[in-house]
Amino acid sequence: MKIEIITTGDEIMSGVTLDTNFHWAAEKLMSLGFDLRFHTSVGDDEEAIIEALRTAKRRSQAVIVSGGLGPTPDDLTAEVASRFFGIPLELNDDALQMIEERFKEQGRKLLEINKKQAYMPKGSQILKNFWGTAPGFQCEKDSVVFFFLPGVPKEFKAMLEEYVIPELDKRTLGRNKFKSRMVKTSGLRESEVAERLKGIEREGVKIGYRPNFPEIHIRVSGYGDTEEKAEKMVSEVIEDIVFRLGEYVFSTEGETLEEVVGKLLSRNRLTLALAESCTGGLVAHRVTNVSGSSNYFERGIVSYSNESKVEVLGVPKELIESFGAVSKEVVEAMAEGVRKLAKADIGVSISGIAGPTGGTPTKPVGTVFIGISHEKKGTSSQRFQFKGTREEIKLIASEVVLDRIRKFVLNNV
Ligand code: ATP
Ligand code: MG
Repeated sequence: MKIEIITTGDEIMSGVTLDTNFHWAAEKLMSLGFDLRFHTSVGDDEEAIIEALRTAKRRSQAVIVSGGLGPTPDDLTAEVASRFFGIPLELNDDALQMIEERFKEQGRKLLEINKKQAYMPKGSQILKNFWGTAPGFQCEKDSVVFFFLPGVPKEFKAMLEEYVIPELDKRTLGRNKFKSRMVKTSGLRESEVAERLKGIEREGVKIGYRPNFPEIHIRVSGYGDTEEKAEKMVSEVIEDIVFRLGEYVFSTEGETLEEVVGKLLSRNRLTLALAESCTGGLVAHRVTNVSGSSNYFERGIVSYSNESKVEVLGVPKELIESFGAVSKEVVEAMAEGVRKLAKADIGVSISGIAGPTGGTPTKPVGTVFIGISHEKKGTSSQRFQFKGTREEIKLIASEVVLDRIRKFVLNNV
């Protein structure tokens, strides 16, 4: 069964809003083994939407439309669908009731224009929206099924999972069983990963590279007539990838680096304290993106000025005067300082020049020192030279810090 996605909206066509609905839906459908063939985007333009529907109906058996179900005049989808199918719009009582309930819950007053959302082509099946106000609808014409979903990403996603996927599942008999997993690596470039994985492909398994700056993710998908076969092929290839890439792989289950670090710290009952200069709290932000991080994250200090390094972290003033704030000596004193201050097991520090100004011949933009301190293992540091914009340097630096913590725990505890 060929599936097609149509995303609508001037904000999508003009490039103002990234088409994340498509991005997400495609990944979801493909990962479930559905045959997604086409994607069209159109603006809030009646003729363009009709044309897209007509083309989709000719070449696909299931069509998913996103956007334009709202109450405003630029939300045209239901009217256009009515024109396209040649079926008049009708007030759907369930839809109206659903909208009224939603407004009541939110304590908002229902305006006359909101009732517009309750109109859909006669005979359509309402797709209730429990995540927002615009109901979706489903209808069928000449054996092609159409799903009309709201454009708001949270609602689109929830409704695709709730209604569209089960319906597609029902209609797709004997689709190939498909398993897919994500391997995530940190510290290698895409070409380096590809080089090491040369020749790893095999019948029935697809490998896709997904650079996700600064990480490289590898999607491994296996097809087979049974789920077990697909699963087994994927697992074998992943084993081979881990063998070839070693410690560069931080997850084979799709977790984020900060989740992996969190699990390692938790499992080993270690606490972490951070002293960040050039990353300005980005590492702490990533660490605390993980639910449950309070179990291992003691504190993070953004210590930007020289004074704060001295006052808060206890870095000897003379060290900064002799070696500069971006130096092995200072970053090690920061790591040890924050560890002692927080009475944490591990203290980690970072100081660098994110640029674009502030570089010197001996310490050009992108110079970053990372320190790590542990009561028994002592304190050490490493110097790195990164390239990129200010944001990129901060992001790579945060990545390397997290990866250092991961490797430290793996190798020392
Ligand atoms: P609403 O009731 O909010 O008007 P709607 O079904 O009419 O919902 P749209 O008006 O098309 O949906 O879009 C609502 C918002 O959702 C847009 O402002 C846009 O930010 C976001 N959006 C729409 N389509 C997409 C898309 N394909 N990808 C990502 N975001 C989208
Ligand atoms: Mg709208």
